[in-house]
Amino acid sequence: MMIIPDTAVQIVPAPLLQEATRGSSARSSHPDWFQQVAAGLDEPHAVILRFGDDLPRDQVLVAARVVMEDLIEVIRARDCAPREMYLEVDHLEHGTPLTPGFMTRLLLPHTDGAHYSFLTPSRQDVPEFPASFRIFSKKGFHRTASHKLYQGFLIVEPGSSVSWTLYYDLFPALLDAYAFQHGSRPSNHQALQQWVAANIGRSLSMQDRHGSRYLSLAALLGSENAVHHVTPPGPRAEAGFAPREYAHFPELERISRQCPCRSCAGPGARLLCDGLQATMGIGWKMFRDRYERRIRGRKNDVLIAHNIFLYHGAESGAADRVLLPMCFVMNEAGGDEYEVWSARQWQRQFVRAQSLNEPHRTQPAENPQDTGLT
Ligand SMILES: [Zn+2]
Repeated sequence: MMIIPDTAVQIVPAPLLQEATRGSSARSSHPDWFQQVAAGLDEPHAVILRFGDDLPRDQVLVAARVVMEDLIEVIRARDCAPREMYLEVDHLEHGTPLTPGFMTRLLLPHTDGAHYSFLTPSRQDVPEFPASFRIFSKKGFHRTASHKLYQGFLIVEPGSSVSWTLYYDLFPALLDAYAFQHGSRPSNHQALQQWVAANIGRSLSMQDRHGSRYLSLAALLGSENAVHHVTPPGPRAEAGFAPREYAHFPELERISRQCPCRSCAGPGARLLCDGLQATMGIGWKMFRDRYERRIRGRKNDVLIAHNIFLYHGAESGAADRVLLPMCFVMNEAGGDEYEVWSARQWQRQFVRAQSLNEPHRTQPAENPQDTGLT
């Protein structure tokens, strides 16, 4: 677990803030600042836009919206992001629902709008991947039906208890899972995309069995065991599973009681630990040590991060915390502009992740999985 670097904090300059609180676009008068923010979105954690905790709520709401609208335009120009992408401001979210017996809630790695927004190949690189596979489930989504390319929120009130936002660097995790199962990392990003396509296809084909509305992390990482495709409600580490799921998967009872690393608290975390052990040879605790970055935001900060190439979670217990989701979304994840944007992101993230050291594998891949696509 790492605290993110100071460079992730982008203090909104006073002249820019003045313009933004008046409702005026400021990207043309502060191009360098916006370029820095846009570049920060390639990093494996959020960028923090710091408006200052003394700004009144009505002013920060106006300024945050203006700056986020400006940022979309900058990303469009810099990264060929789709023209159909827009800023979606949701309703205020109050407090943290807790599981009885727990003082805090640990949200396991997920993407916002998870059944609608998750890492899928670009059809520019994998033309046979159907765009319809980018919708994992059409039922019970949280809270809007848009595809969230970038996930963000304004901290209206940080609350009086612990409140961490956690980010997981998905790309090196994918490379390491691939290496664990195949004996070496993929030679190029197209091979990695083929493998991810096969993993998503497998989970969708088993949906009648696992019943999950979300693509689980272990499923994305290639688990062939349907129980690893089950997701706990929330997805909370401390949450148990429905009686139907225990009846359907007899091994879930054992996994819920004890995980491979023997240190995870809660059935949801233990199932994830089991799935990570199967796909990467490490437990949930070591996964956090390797890939997690943590951020504690302040009042009036906007946190914005990639929602497709990163997973995020949260550790919080504050009943008086208030957040306003502000995401960059699309109504349909597809079309030429989306595929071009996605392909560029795959390429860029693959190069970045490859430059990171491959961790020493905890066990050799004796039985590489045959995905039929690599
Ligand atoms: Zn564990």
